[in-house]
Amino acid sequence: MSFDDLGLSKKVLAAVEASGYTEPTPIQAQAIPHVMQHRDVLGIAQTGTGKTASFTLPMLSLLEKGRARARMPRTLILEPTRELAAQVEENLNKYSQNHKLTVALLIGGTSFEEQFKKLDRGADILIATPGRLLDCFDRGKILMTGVEVLVIDEADRMLDMGFIPDIEKICKMVPFTRQTLFFSATMPPEIERLANQFLQNPVQVTVARASSTSETITQYAVASEIEDWEKRALLRKLIDDAEELKNGIVFCNRKRDVANLWKSLDRHGYSAGALHGDMDQTSRTATLKAFKDNKISLLIASDVAARGLDIPDVSHVFNFDVPVNAEDYVHRIGRTGRAGRKGTAYMVVTPEEQKGFEAIEKLIDKEIDWLGDKVEWDERAGKKRRGKKGKSDRPEKSRSKAPKQANEAEEARPRNRRGKDIIPEIDHSDATHAFGGEEHVPAFLLNAG
Ligand code: ADP
Ligand code: MG
Repeated sequence: MSFDDLGLSKKVLAAVEASGYTEPTPIQAQAIPHVMQHRDVLGIAQTGTGKTASFTLPMLSLLEKGRARARMPRTLILEPTRELAAQVEENLNKYSQNHKLTVALLIGGTSFEEQFKKLDRGADILIATPGRLLDCFDRGKILMTGVEVLVIDEADRMLDMGFIPDIEKICKMVPFTRQTLFFSATMPPEIERLANQFLQNPVQVTVARASSTSETITQYAVASEIEDWEKRALLRKLIDDAEELKNGIVFCNRKRDVANLWKSLDRHGYSAGALHGDMDQTSRTATLKAFKDNKISLLIASDVAARGLDIPDVSHVFNFDVPVNAEDYVHRIGRTGRAGRKGTAYMVVTPEEQKGFEAIEKLIDKEIDWLGDKVEWDERAGKKRRGKKGKSDRPEKSRSKAPKQANEAEEARPRNRRGKDIIPEIDHSDATHAFGGEEHVPAFLLNAG
């Protein structure tokens, strides 16, 4: 299959060639001809399979006919995050080098002067996050009545971020006669309902199960105690021992952990940057760029911040926690092993994370190998607070900020259940810090007063 067979315009084909793509990916090969025929398309394919080009390339071809009118964008692309929106813009700039088309971007955290000017003059393509778009619409800055093509991209992430009501509103504001293109990595029931509601007689294109993980990724689980400093020590060990580590992404479930872990790794001399939802746009972009340019080799990120980001060539993924949604695991480790390359993914698993871990194995329909000893599940986990251990052979650790914690950490070592070959020795420098600094006090203690 070649790009020439998909019905794309000459200008687009020339840009594709210039970008170095030689062959369409499966989702591109299957979706593009239908988009070119003005059909509604429902495209389901894993992260990293080239969904962006499967709607941008035909859109550009279709836009060659006609022109934009003031304040009335001709096409609208909805993205869940600023980074993804900016990334789609980058893609469009690359593919539209032979066109004279105007692309406007409406995302939070940036100045709008320039974008409004473009919209006023007439934008062919508007890329927006839902909230920002509705905001501008309410202020009378844009009219949606000229939208010929609507793209809802990364729909499952929209769902995770609570954007579905906004999407529904927007869908009702654009003309009924529009063409709708809908892309998602997974298809939970809420997304299916949304697709049924807003797509007309769509062609469904599905590439590989969203629950499948690439065969090129070697996956490991590693048992850890639940204390944060133990997890951090284990993570450092994994990083140090990782073979052929070029660069890696470390995923945390909570953004607070992203910040803490980044500080800790930085203190230990690792070349790392952090990416989470609370950071301003400038520092997020800077971190991402530093990572892409290999100026930092580890990126600590939360799921929301990292979803869909186009980071080519990651050699390792480290899961600092078992993700709460099993599907997030598929997305996380999908950052490595792309395009047939080899990748390695580690997941730190604590005794309390049995449910999440088993959900992942069920979803990917595969047993994950343990590096060292398998975790000993805490049967009473989930029935009580984190930190209260159920096993009588494990004395409960004091949660006070008292400095005696360092000694307890020392005592804890012989009881470690992780494989000796993995962690022959633990550096306790974090332990002292862990209980000395505010940042590491368990949340329930901070909230207690
Ligand atoms: P998705 O949205 O499915 O997660 P993207 O559209 O962001 O994936 O594409 C993932 C990566 O694949 C990007 O780096 C992109 O440049 C690259 N890519 C897309 N299409 C092709 C192709 N036909 N040949 C080679 N690389 C491609
Ligand atoms: Mg995408």
